Amino acid sequence: MALREEQILRYSRQILLREVGGRGQEKLLSGGVRLKATGVAGLTAAAYVVAGGTAVEAGPESLAPGAEGFLVPAEDVGRPASEVLARVLPDVNADALAGHGTGRLAELPAAWDGEGPWVALGGDGTRGVVIFRGAGGCVGCFEATTAAWGAPPKGALGVGLGALGALILQRLLLGLGPALGACTWEAPGVMTDLPVRRCGRCG
Ligand SMILES: [Zn+2]
Repeated sequence: MALREEQILRYSRQILLREVGGRGQEKLLSGGVRLKATGVAGLTAAAYVVAGGTAVEAGPESLAPGAEGFLVPAEDVGRPASEVLARVLPDVNADALAGHGTGRLAELPAAWDGEGPWVALGGDGTRGVVIFRGAGGCVGCFEATTAAWGAPPKGALGVGLGALGALILQRLLLGLGPALGACTWEAPGVMTDLPVRRCGRCG
C-alpha cells in the first residue's frame, strides 16, 4: 500500500467510512484519548481524532518549535499543549470535547498505562513509525517495539505520520484488528508494515 500523504489527508474519512457506520461513529464519539505530544505529528493526529468525533485531552508538555501548522499558530510554541488544545480543538469539532476513554496517543519517548488502545508516533531521523496496541495486544511486545525508536519526524513527514496514526487509532477504537502492529512512513508517503519485536514471554 502506497497512498500519498495528500491522499491520506484528503480521503481519511472515506477510507474509514465503509467500516464505521452509525454504531461505529457512536463508538468514536463515546471514546476518549489522552495525548502526550509537543510536535506536529502528535498535534495532527489529535486534530484528526477530534474531527472524527473522539475527545482528546492533552498533557502539560510545552509545544516544541515546529509544532505550528494548521492546528496551532506559531505564537503558541512554548505554551502548554493542554492550554493550547483546549482553545483550538472546539473549533475543529465541538462534539468531541467530553469523552473519558482509556486511549493513549503519544510521541515517543513515552510511558504507557491503561487498557488502551495505545498509539505511539516515533521515528529514526529518516522514517516515521506508528506502533499500536489494542486492548488484546501484548504490553511487553508493544514496549519492546517502541524501545527501538526515537521522536517522530517534523514537517510534512510528521503531518502525514500523524494522519496515519489517527486512522490507526480510530480503527482500534472501532474494535478492528490487528491488536498489535507497527508500520513505517517514509517520504513520499510510502507505508510499510514493520514486524513487531517479541517480548521475553512471547518469544
Ligand atoms: Zn509479548
